[in-house]
Amino acid sequence: MASKELPMPSRQQTVYDNWKIVSNGRHDKSFKPDHHFGRKKVDWYLSRDLAVMLTEDKAIKLVFEAKGDGHSEGDYMVEDRANICVSCGRPDALTLHHIVPDMYRKWMPEIIKSKSSRDLVLLCKSCHLGYESHADDYKNSIVREYDMPLEGSGWILTPENHTVRKAASAIIKYRDGKLPGMPLERLKQLESVVNTYKADLNVEESFDDVLLVAIELTDRHKGPHFIEHGEFVVAKLMEKEVSSESQVRWPDLEAFIKSWRRHFLTNCDCRYLSARWKIDGNIYR
Ligand SMILES: [Zn+2]
Repeated sequence: MASKELPMPSRQQTVYDNWKIVSNGRHDKSFKPDHHFGRKKVDWYLSRDLAVMLTEDKAIKLVFEAKGDGHSEGDYMVEDRANICVSCGRPDALTLHHIVPDMYRKWMPEIIKSKSSRDLVLLCKSCHLGYESHADDYKNSIVREYDMPLEGSGWILTPENHTVRKAASAIIKYRDGKLPGMPLERLKQLESVVNTYKADLNVEESFDDVLLVAIELTDRHKGPHFIEHGEFVVAKLMEKEVSSESQVRWPDLEAFIKSWRRHFLTNCDCRYLSARWKIDGNIYR
């Protein structure tokens, strides 16, 4: 589950003022002396990953385009949001939830990814867990639709590694005194498996060094044509491209993002989600 604990501002915290908040406008705006905010506002942005700390003292930079930078009045993006779970309303144990899962989002074009704070909501741990099982069902339906497993495709299987790893692991356990009853004959068999592997490797390393390599062996590795599930799905969704008003759009990708929003609304009882948050909310800004 892609979630993380939010650093919740403590009540005992000193109230600092005069923080600078730098907008992420198209023409990187320089600090404006009249842009001073309280620590509470700064924490609000930081706790949602909506801003990053600058090296300059007491300054943060927004990671999205701020109010007045393209969002119309009445839009969800210009609204002050409550610091509570959008489902049950509790103010603690909050986590960030990406409505469009990161496994897809990370392959989307920058113009969409950089504007996706609309699809970032607060859920408490319990509501987050509850929704994730529904999200897993939806991902599995995408697996079937695109015939692309969640683990990706293009794995090269090396089942023979399994025997070598098991042998190496048993030898190490025996040496650590964890397998005292192992017959000497069995130990020799295991050493023979590792020695055969060492001979195949044709390296100068000692038996003990090869042992350390052998316990790290995996049963599969990514081949030259390996592709992640999300990478494949997003590439398919971007095949159809249209241009309107000098902006490139991907209608199938738009429908996909909106389908995740719809799925979230249908399967998570969002009693505390702003009424301004809409399935049809803009994807490109
Ligand atoms: Zn909740």
